[in-house]
Amino acid sequence: MKANVLVIGGGVGGLTLALKLAKCGIGVTVVEQTKGTSHMYKGELVQPKTLQIFEHLGVLPSVQLSGHTINKIDLIEGNKQDTPSKSAMSYNILPKPYNYALMIPHETLKKILLDEASKFPSFKYIQPGRFTGFEQNKAKVKINKEEVLLQADYYISAEGRKSIIRDSLGIQKKEKQYDHHFLTVTFPRPASLKDGKIISTDETFLGLFPLPENQVRSVYLIPKGTYKEMVEEGIDSFYKKYLKLYPELDGYVQCIESWKKIQLMIPVHYHISDYVKGNVALLGDAAHSVHPMAGEGMNLAIQDADVLGELLCWMYDEDNHTGSYLSYYEEVRKPRVQYVLKLSHLSALAYSKPLKSFVNWRRKVIDQLTQDPVLHCKHMLNISGLGIWKESLVDRVIQSGVIPKRINREIELTENQLLFKETDDYPWKKEMYRDDR
Ligand SMILES: Cc1cc2nc3c(=O)[nH]c(=O)nc-3n(C[C@H](O)[C@H](O)[C@H](O)COP(=O)(O)OP(=O)(O)OC[C@H]3O[C@@H](n4cnc5c(N)ncnc54)[C@H](O)[C@@H]3O)c2cc1C
Repeated sequence: MKANVLVIGGGVGGLTLALKLAKCGIGVTVVEQTKGTSHMYKGELVQPKTLQIFEHLGVLPSVQLSGHTINKIDLIEGNKQDTPSKSAMSYNILPKPYNYALMIPHETLKKILLDEASKFPSFKYIQPGRFTGFEQNKAKVKINKEEVLLQADYYISAEGRKSIIRDSLGIQKKEKQYDHHFLTVTFPRPASLKDGKIISTDETFLGLFPLPENQVRSVYLIPKGTYKEMVEEGIDSFYKKYLKLYPELDGYVQCIESWKKIQLMIPVHYHISDYVKGNVALLGDAAHSVHPMAGEGMNLAIQDADVLGELLCWMYDEDNHTGSYLSYYEEVRKPRVQYVLKLSHLSALAYSKPLKSFVNWRRKVIDQLTQDPVLHCKHMLNISGLGIWKESLVDRVIQSGVIPKRINREIELTENQLLFKETDDYPWKKEMYRDDR
């Protein structure tokens, strides 16, 4: 059995890539190990660049229909002694039409991608099927207790954090762990809770991200190693923790029947050295893992798939399979991912225990970030995925509150050089590059 491209892992990254390739008429097979849908909570916040990708893939209307629009994320610093300080990160300052984010249940998004890909005759989906390694340049896949060898022109590692391909290729990853973990759970929400909220104190924070059908996904920070103790304290004590931070959840958080519904989430941070080795490319969590603070994990996987998919479509179209072309994928994606990893790592540190005494400093930084028009714009652009606008030394000084924030400064991002253009996303299409390879 020969596919042009064999994708190991039917997560959001693998399915986006497969849909892109199937649309180009490329034979693509996805192998997914799970039997049905997963009950694990995973990324659900869709950032603006991902919305743009979905539009090009023709799935944006279905995603919008099953999603809940987020215009802003309110940041509330609430310490016992002080009056809470409020500010907001607004997606609306980004250029239209991608000036919002969207929350969608993870499995619903996967189903939309899978259903769309299944419309194309060149798409094949093997589930359950488990990749176990390579043999004679073929992929060994266990399907119904039987081991089969699948051959392809290209193999894609999209199997998430525990990638077997990454390990079998000897690609190293240096993992950073944090001093905190998260509890995550979805439950009904009050109708007034329409936008995202992050409520923080000097001990913890609660992130609330509204989903459709009056549900809300919550993320609650706990010190590493305290999960067992919390479970032993009982579910009532969990409700109290949420209500202390956001009393409006009274009558809603209690709908979580037991601890079984609540998932422990352990943040990790890593970035592999090589995205491509021979005819194998890695994407999504197989290549990098980002602290969930910035809600970027799922977006990075989809954005990887977009660039890699476009490149493979182009290579088949041009009938040009020179090995070095695949490296364009790494050239485009690695620096962008590196930047997002850095941003979310810095946000994670601001909420970590060693910086606890800096709560007032954090409050100042957040105020400056959301009220200085340049800083706000840069931050929203950088997390949106639509472009990168790096902070300058002056920005850092303003952010730390040493000099006052700028006011009355108009920023027009629409025509701005800092938004990624098609030639930035897909540079191999530039004529000048062709002769160089
Ligand atoms: C427990 C958890 C919670 C998370 N929560 C959040 C969150 O709250 N917010 C956020 O932004 N991000 C979160 N993330 C990150 C985000 O969900 C991921 O970044 C995103 O799903 C990555 O997509 P992916 O397609 O690369 O990998 P995955 O979504 O992990 O998909 C990989 C797929 O490969 C399959 N697979 C694995 N091994 C094999 C094999 N050998 N053979 C065949 N198939 C295989 C898996 O079953 C899976 O379906 C979370 C991740 C995890 C693991």
